[in-house]
Amino acid sequence: SSRPLYLGIDFGTSGARYALIDKQGAIHSQGKRTYPPVGKDATLESSWREALFDLLSDIPSIHRPSISSISIDGTSSTALIIDRNNGELLAGPFLYNESFPDALPTVASIAPANHTVCSGSSTLCKLVSWWEKNPWNGDDLAILMHQSDWLLWLLHGKYGVSDYNNTLKLGYDPEMDSYPSWLMSQPYSHMLPSSVRAPGVSIGSIKQDICSQYGFSKNCLVCTGTTDSIAAFLAARTTDPGKAVTSLGSTLAIKLVSRVRVDDARFGVYSHRLDDLWLVGGASNTGGAALRKLFSDDQLVALSRVIDPSLPSPLDYYPLPGKGERFPISDPDMAPRLEPRPQSDAEYLHGILESIARIEASGYKLLKGLGATAVEEVLTAGGGAQNDKWTAIRKRVLGVPVRKAEQTEAAYGAALLALRGATSSELDP
Ligand code: ADP
Repeated sequence: SSRPLYLGIDFGTSGARYALIDKQGAIHSQGKRTYPPVGKDATLESSWREALFDLLSDIPSIHRPSISSISIDGTSSTALIIDRNNGELLAGPFLYNESFPDALPTVASIAPANHTVCSGSSTLCKLVSWWEKNPWNGDDLAILMHQSDWLLWLLHGKYGVSDYNNTLKLGYDPEMDSYPSWLMSQPYSHMLPSSVRAPGVSIGSIKQDICSQYGFSKNCLVCTGTTDSIAAFLAARTTDPGKAVTSLGSTLAIKLVSRVRVDDARFGVYSHRLDDLWLVGGASNTGGAALRKLFSDDQLVALSRVIDPSLPSPLDYYPLPGKGERFPISDPDMAPRLEPRPQSDAEYLHGILESIARIEASGYKLLKGLGATAVEEVLTAGGGAQNDKWTAIRKRVLGVPVRKAEQTEAAYGAALLALRGATSSELDP
């Protein structure tokens, strides 16, 4: 096959996946690998490296010469400290959910109040925590790489390249397209990625030895990546202002394309840059994990069948898997409200689904109140997207069209970035 193909690779929390698409977005091949277990011979980063090259060898060899470009997404604020003299690991990987509260006082003293870096798990806290324990000895050239920077670097070999989605939690300002002066004036500023670009921009050709080993074309480009949640959003291919994706997985996460940038640390709301627009996000603790405490997936299917979604349920709940909510209500002590429970299980489920829909609606309303573009259409991803009755309830409660997203895999979104990188470098060599 000689038609050009574009490769996206997603490094998610449970494993790595790839999707190989053509210019029209059709999938030609896809696959998944779980990370090899970490143990006496394997470190976390070696298991990522292994998963990456295993995926490359999983791609049917007939397709490999047709691959024009590659992009990779990784979990947000997962980072490594690398020695740029020899590429060796100096520290980490620090995982997305690892917290470094020891660095918070320092970070809070240099960053503006309520900045996204002012959280113990931010990439900047990870960097500062390491720096404070490892002051510069004059000759090391330690640099920070995000997970996707590092994986892409294994393919292209250039130091210092990242994208403005991954660097957001490091303190990069995507609006100014630079690091702010409060960050550049720090003694560790040489550790920050020096070339921060848009996601899906060509970095350079894939390394020669990888080309010959796997049978890739020597013209195959490696392109900047993004974070896993942005890649999953991009997969839905809906990037006009007012379009949104609700992800009904374990939690309820919403992402809205907005003309206006909106950030509010109280609600955990922040904006990623999306070309000339903003992708505003917020996440509630309600969702599938709370549902799963009440109903099995089989019960959800059976009970949903008898629900009439055109009838509003008067039952008013606030399903949570445990104590605490952040968005659209900021209350760390909030308790779940799951009563009164009616006789009929179907009626109960109807009330629960309707209540979650109301929480979703108040999420979009809160974003609008904070200044974001009003929602016009909602695409759905995650386990809850399968439930047509719920979709109909949500359509009524949200008052806008709601449909299931065709593609929701982050790997597919990364493949779209690869496509973009290859196409724009044709126009702009
Ligand atoms: P995650 O990847 O966040 O763990 P998924 O996207 O796989 O979650 O979605 C799983 C969730 O979807 C479960 O928590 C479950 O309660 C919910 N779910 C599964 N089937 C249905 C259904 N038919 N209706 C509503 N929710 C469902």
